[in-house]
Amino acid sequence: MPQILNFSAGPAMLPTEVLKHAQSELLDWRGSGMSVLEMSHRGKEYMNIQAEAEADLRELLNIPANYKVLFLQGGASTQFSNIPINLLRGKKTADYLNTGEWSKKAIAEASKYCEVNVVATSEDKNFSYAPTQDQWKLNPDAAYVHYTSNETIGGVEIFWTPDTGDVPLVADMSSHILSRPIDVSKYGLIYAGAQKNIGPAGLTIVIVREDLLGEVLPGMPVMSDYKIHADNDSMYNTPPTYPIYISGLVFKLLKSRGGLAAMEQVNIRKSKLVYDYLDSTDFYHCPTAIENRSRMNIPFMLKNEALDDEFIKEAKAQGLIQLKGHRLLGGMRASIYNAMPEEGVKVLVNFMRNFAVNHA
Ligand SMILES: *Cc1c(COP(=O)(O)O)cnc(C)c1O
Repeated sequence: MPQILNFSAGPAMLPTEVLKHAQSELLDWRGSGMSVLEMSHRGKEYMNIQAEAEADLRELLNIPANYKVLFLQGGASTQFSNIPINLLRGKKTADYLNTGEWSKKAIAEASKYCEVNVVATSEDKNFSYAPTQDQWKLNPDAAYVHYTSNETIGGVEIFWTPDTGDVPLVADMSSHILSRPIDVSKYGLIYAGAQKNIGPAGLTIVIVREDLLGEVLPGMPVMSDYKIHADNDSMYNTPPTYPIYISGLVFKLLKSRGGLAAMEQVNIRKSKLVYDYLDSTDFYHCPTAIENRSRMNIPFMLKNEALDDEFIKEAKAQGLIQLKGHRLLGGMRASIYNAMPEEGVKVLVNFMRNFAVNHA
């Protein structure tokens, strides 16, 4: 069995160090006689684990004190509805940028609660790029402006921060949070499912400016109210304890590696290895506009689609798994999140090169 390199878009690879650490204390967390899996979320051991995870995340992202960090369940998809429920605050309309499949889902859900103004869309070119802000038609009466800063399926990343003036900016950062530093103070709300670039499935992180909370739509479930979660330190109900613990270990690892500025340099190098190779050959083709090429999710196509199955089969035989592209796009997709070592990306590019030679 070769060493496995997992290019899944999510749930995705986790750092080996973190898994080994978790394994070493799976049965007995630091002499407590309990597994983290067995701990009461109200016990002091677990409360410390969660508080430390939050403190480390705040440090990594340099989160200002007037922002709440929520550890929730329900995935990014639940936030598609929670965002209008919490942020409309008496307004009737919200602005959305449409850059792909996740934007579309967010728009569809928001449309149940308000009028959605699509500020711009890249549907004309099969969502292969992101419209720049000069192309956006912002509505000054919008309750907020929502965008998907990294479209996981199309591999479209937005590297600049939109300027929406006093209208709160909301970002779905599910698939690239923690890949580089961001200026949290530019946002009203940031959310991310953990299973892409943070930790295990089951945890969703919401970072929200305090003053935006407290005006939830009437008649909504209590679990949709961000203020309830904020006021209860994410313990209104049982939080996803084990995913929070594992994510906390990931935060510590990222800190020990020099934080997000250091991660960004690694991610630039890793993604450049793949894109440089793709640009050097016409055996493969990358559909994404150069200025929006995601450092995390890299879709690519074989010019000869008839070789797709053979590519997947040979890759798998060499331990390179989960390279099949999303069904909407076809072709291949390599997701290379923080946990994918640089060496793993080199192995992938070597395999691609050899495959091209052998099937030319
Ligand atoms: C995966 C993903 C989602 C959906 O996440 P769930 O946690 O499965 O609900 C939403 N947005 C983006 C950008 C994603 O990558």
